[in-house]
Amino acid sequence: MTQAVENVTELDAMVIGVGVAGLYQLHRFREMGLKVRAYDTATGVGGTWYWNRYPGARFDSQVEIYQYWFDEELYKSWKPSERFPGQPETEQWMNHVADRLDLKKDIQFSTRIESAKYDEKTGRWDVVTDDGEKINTQYLVSCCGMLSAPLDNRFPGQQSFKGEIHHTGLWPKGGVDLKGKRVAVIGTGATGIQVIQTIAPEVGSMKVFVRTPQYAIPMKNPKYSDEDWSYWSSRFNELKERVPTTFAGFDYDFYDKAWADCTDEERKEVLEERWEEGSLALWLASFPEMFFDEEISEVVSEFVRGKMRARLGNDEKLCDLLIPGPDDYGFGTHRVPLEHKYLEVYLQDNVETINCKSTPIEEIVPEGIKTADGVIHEVDAIILAVGFDAGSGALSRINIRGRDDRSLKDQWQQEIRTAMGLQIHGYPNLFTTGAPLAPSAALCNMTTCLQYQVDWITDCIGYANNNGKKVIEASKKVEDDWVRHHDEVAAETLVVKTDSWYMGSNVEGKPRRLLSYIGGVGNYHSKCDEVAKSGYPGFDIA
Ligand code: NAP
Repeated sequence: MTQAVENVTELDAMVIGVGVAGLYQLHRFREMGLKVRAYDTATGVGGTWYWNRYPGARFDSQVEIYQYWFDEELYKSWKPSERFPGQPETEQWMNHVADRLDLKKDIQFSTRIESAKYDEKTGRWDVVTDDGEKINTQYLVSCCGMLSAPLDNRFPGQQSFKGEIHHTGLWPKGGVDLKGKRVAVIGTGATGIQVIQTIAPEVGSMKVFVRTPQYAIPMKNPKYSDEDWSYWSSRFNELKERVPTTFAGFDYDFYDKAWADCTDEERKEVLEERWEEGSLALWLASFPEMFFDEEISEVVSEFVRGKMRARLGNDEKLCDLLIPGPDDYGFGTHRVPLEHKYLEVYLQDNVETINCKSTPIEEIVPEGIKTADGVIHEVDAIILAVGFDAGSGALSRINIRGRDDRSLKDQWQQEIRTAMGLQIHGYPNLFTTGAPLAPSAALCNMTTCLQYQVDWITDCIGYANNNGKKVIEASKKVEDDWVRHHDEVAAETLVVKTDSWYMGSNVEGKPRRLLSYIGGVGNYHSKCDEVAKSGYPGFDIA
């Protein structure tokens, strides 16, 4: 497939990352007959599902829609064991996809991309890997992931710790033996919650460092039989049509009656029904008004708080620490996690909570974690469930230089901008999936939005090829228009008032902007389709 000229690998297209998006992008480019190669730092496929092998990792999109839609036989060929499979099964599924499509022969594993520089004379990218390989490619497509730049060096003194310390996003392949040990978990986001509930039965003792509490919904995760999968398979075409049109790329969508037109009983009934669903439906398929209206947000938040309080036996100290209060933030303005017996963990005698809002973590010392009150919390192992430099992090960790040698990292340190999350002005022939300002991470079921973006990119490149063109760049205007629209939609919501990775506030100095488009997946697709149908107005194609 590739041709080495003076030790340079010459390609038509290069894909960075082989998770959900990268595998599909590689497949689409191969179908087009392009000379393409994909690169990944990992030793295997999976992306998120390769790296996040921490105890309890699983997704919370139903497996029947966390799927590829380009091949019905592929869908039918995998039999998921449950509604929300865990990481090992999802990693196996991704290997199944890669093997079935024979993709691995065009993937170079264990290779980190160090730099990519656009050459204005040739309209091509010069890419260099960590082992010094040089690649010259016409198109460069980032499939690096939205949540793939772990904040693994979060605390001073981490290196001094005598025991084991691991970030969840870099969890060792062989696992970590926590049995009977004194374990600290820092972070109670979607990841921390999964870790805590999973390791609670096996650890000797656990100290959970809680800073911001989460609204959490109990997950219902029934096993799937062959009959169940036959049922879902029989609905393949219907689901394929439906998921790209809903608000969040799931098969469910918002309740079709406005909050204002419902009685209190009906509202309660809708909330209860979605709660019983045991999925993200309470958030993404009930009342959209909760995203906009503070009073409605408070009613829904209080509904969730009530459920949580009951599970904590109304223990005042635990409720204060683990349930967001009316002055914290509203339900759904932070990424909502699903959980299984998470709150009940805190009722165990061997589990202690440390409020690190009132007593922040100062540093890691050889014996454990030192908090601002001078206490050293001695432990054998520390789990850093402290999150990611989301959206912009993965690309900023590569030295990307566009026209006029501009640096993407420097630019994004000032302001994070993209054109529909698909291109960045000043970086011709660079395309992005899972990038800032496109729908993502529960505001879109990831397989829905990533596939769409890959298809859009592939079609755009196909359009250029068919017209004998070689360079595609989003104009400043198209990017400005998208950023304005994105910000206008975001500003209407309460999400922009809440601190979380959605707003970039979890990384010091990161410019604040909602990283995921919140205008709805169906709406996003219509807008991007319109651009494609109209011959890519606003994109300079030469
Ligand atoms: P996260 O949501 O950013 O949570 C990080 C946690 O670490 C927060 O509780 C944060 O507290 C805490 N933290 C960070 N720095 C700290 C410090 N210096 N001191 C004390 N606490 C600190 O990250 P995540 O849990 O890894 O989740 C990221 C995203 O990945 C999710 O939102 C979701 O989109 C995705 N994910 C999905 C699934 C799933 O599908 N089920 C599972 C896991 C993750 P503050 O909030 O106070 O900063």
